[in-house]
Order: sequence, then structure tokens, then C-alpha cells
Amino acid sequence: MERISVFDIFKIGVGPSSSHTMGPWIAALQFLQKVENEKIASINVKLFGSLAKTGRGHGTDIAVMLGLLGHHPTTIDVEKLDEYIAHVYRTNSINLGGKQEIPFKPLENIAFIFEKLPFHPNALTFVAQFKNGHGLAETYFSIGGGFVIQEDSKPTEHQTVTLPYPIDREADLRRYVEAKGQSISAIVWENELAWRSAEEIRTGLLHIWDTMLRCIYTGCHTDGELPGGLQVQRRAHAINDKLLAGTEYTTINGWMKTIQISGASFANVTKWVSCFALAVNEENASFGRVVTAPTNGAAGVIPAVLMYYRCFCENNGDEDVIKFLLTAGEIGSLFKKGSTISAAMGGCQAEIGVSSAMAAAALTECMGGSPQQALMAAEIAMEHHLGLTCDPINGLVQIPCIERNTMGAMKAITASQIALSSNPNLAKVSLDQVIKTMWETSLDMNDKYKETSDGGLAVNVSVLVPEC
Ligand code: SF4
Repeated sequence: MERISVFDIFKIGVGPSSSHTMGPWIAALQFLQKVENEKIASINVKLFGSLAKTGRGHGTDIAVMLGLLGHHPTTIDVEKLDEYIAHVYRTNSINLGGKQEIPFKPLENIAFIFEKLPFHPNALTFVAQFKNGHGLAETYFSIGGGFVIQEDSKPTEHQTVTLPYPIDREADLRRYVEAKGQSISAIVWENELAWRSAEEIRTGLLHIWDTMLRCIYTGCHTDGELPGGLQVQRRAHAINDKLLAGTEYTTINGWMKTIQISGASFANVTKWVSCFALAVNEENASFGRVVTAPTNGAAGVIPAVLMYYRCFCENNGDEDVIKFLLTAGEIGSLFKKGSTISAAMGGCQAEIGVSSAMAAAALTECMGGSPQQALMAAEIAMEHHLGLTCDPINGLVQIPCIERNTMGAMKAITASQIALSSNPNLAKVSLDQVIKTMWETSLDMNDKYKETSDGGLAVNVSVLVPEC
């Protein structure tokens, strides 16, 4: 079974979609690497299946071009995305990896083909013609959460590393925590040491949290309309302003302190949690800087719950943030191994459902719950997302996606509270059982509810998108 690090689950990148933006972007970079020593005459890209059906709304064509230009989603200046893409359209050319300029007309050289390839609904093929008459065609599959594979690719060293605690299922994790008397995060920490040093793990996880926090802050301080033509207005900014009622602050820390002293009443907390989740997913919809958690569409759930923990719960600090992300990451890995984190395979239960389960377990551990209670919280959170469909209007990661993150966050907090008040030995459903159920539900789910915009809200809500 594949070995997955917490840093594979939490990847710093760009919105709006991990499978339809980040994955194709990374695929373009991988293809670019394979042809970097060739003199290239032309490149054509074919987007298949779900990548074709919702690719325009999810920015798949834009992501592919940014990859071919040689930009990386982790490091690109998100303020310059429009400029880079406008240059390609204006010049009808693309500067591959910044090294060789070739003719490229996006509307002709990127094809949207609704037919899906058998291996996975998210497929894309790059075809390069070389000036010497040869060429190369490669197909990649974007399997959710920014993970990219090729059908015949061999596992990498990273994926086959030997871990002290190999975990494929919840039962493995449960066995280790019980035998060692340790928390989930302590077991995951030991595994992470197989990939990187303690200092790298610590610094890396705090950097992930810092990116999440900045995303919330930016979303809470940016007003206006989201791109894509649905004319969806941002709401986090207005909610933030209303909740803080003119209180002044100049830094992110000052803002957090202001939120903390605004009080932990039920009404205040629920408004803030929703505000945090909305903020992240409004940034995500605007091609902003986000962290896959485990996907971009569901990027708001974990930051919202972690922010709730930091602002409204006691005894939290950097060490707790690290524990939170380690625990959440492991739960995400269990879903990826036993089911899917791709909406094109499993609908929205694979995105919001999984992120809610991750957040529920992590919050439970940080609130002092036992490992068994944390696993129970993850199970409860997913149990009440089973069957959730993916039906984004106009293929944009906006409706229902943005609000859905608020629901995932609130369910995670509720699931955690239930688990913390329960005896996990009396639980009737295990996390492994709910993961299996989620997978079987995915297999039974009609394709029109799997990130195709062929069903649900996407066909029942008619929204006129003006020509631009
Ligand atoms: S409906 Fe859910 S799974 Fe589908 S794009 Fe939106 S957030 Fe992602």
C-alpha cells in the first residue's frame, strides 16, 4: 500500500480545485520535464471526462498553461496569474518553462473531450511534436487532492519508504495507539521522521498553518464579486466587519486577539466558524493561495476548525497546531487508501465529508480526547456526509461549494463534541466501516453527481452568465 505523508495531504497551492487545477498543473510540469531537452514545434493538450465537463469553471485550462510556462503552484505569485494567461492569449504563444517560445492558441491547442478514459474520470494527455520529426504523448490522471499518477508509473521511493508504523486501515492505527499508549499524532510524528527531520516537520507544519491563517485573513478582508460570471458576492468580509463592529487592529495577531475577546457564545462562535470557512473558499474561488485539506474545494473546513480551536478553546499553541495537522493528515490518508478523495470518483462526500472527518478527529485529540474518541469523531463526521453529491453550478467551485465548507466545519465540531461525551467502546460503527461504506456509495453514485455538473443544482438552477 502507498505510503502517504501529512505533507502529501496538505499541499500549498492555488485554487480553485485540487483535482482540476493543482493536479493538471503538476501534470504539465511533469510533462515539461520530460521534453525539456527537445526542440519543440507544438504542444496539444486533451482534457478528458470530468476535467472537460467542469474544467473551464475549475480553471483546468489556465492551470495547464501555467504549468507549461514553468510556474509551480506552491511558489507562483498569485497576483500575476491573470497577467501570465493574458500574455499567452495576446501573443498566441507560450514560453515553455521560460526557455523556448512556441506558437500556442489556447482555444485550439487545448481540447475539452467529454468522453472519460477507463482508468479515472480525470485524465489529460499532452502531445508534443518535436522539430526533428519525433514526438511524445503522455497521459496523466489527476486522482484528487492534487495527486497525479500515470497508469503504468512505478511507485516512487517516497511512496515505498519503510515506516515504523505502517498504516493502511483504521485498525492498524488503533492497534499502534493501544499497544504504545500514545496519541494518534505521536504515532504519525514517528512515521513522518522516515521522510524528514523533526525540525523540518515542525517548521513545515507551522508554515502550512501560517498559509491557512493568511488565507482566512485575506478572505475576511477582501470584498467584491467572485470571478466566473455567476456574480457571487464575497460575504466573509462583511461578516467579519459586522462581528468586529469597528474594532481596530493592524496585524493578524491583533485581529485574532480581537476575535478571542469578542466572546465564545454559541451564536458568536458559529458565526465566526462560518466566516472563517467562507473566507478560505472565497479565496479558493478567486485563484488565491490555499492549502489542499485534503482538496481545494474543501479547503475551508480544516482551517475554520483549527481557527475555532485557536480562538475559542483553551491551552492551544504551536504544539497543538502540529498535533492537529498530524492527526488530520492521517485520517485523510486513511480515506485516500480505503476510498477516495476525488469528487469525480465519489462526489462531495470525498471532499467535504473527508475534510470534516479529518477536522473532527484532530479537534478531538487537541481537546484532550482519547485516540479512540478521535477515531469515533472522524467516523461520526463522515457518517453524516455519506452520499453527498457534487453538483457545482456552471462547473465553478462556488455554489454549493463555498457554503458547504461552513457545514463541514460545524459538523466536525459537533462530531468532536459527541465523541468527547461518549464511550467509544460502545460505538456501533467503526471508521473502517464508514470508509468502506463511503467507497461503496461512491461506486453506486450516478456519474452525474460526480463533478460533471450534469445533475443536481447544476441543472436545476439556471444562472445566466454574461459574455465577457
Ligand atoms: S460540490 Fe463539493 S466536491 Fe463538488 S466541487 Fe464543490 S466542494 Fe468540490
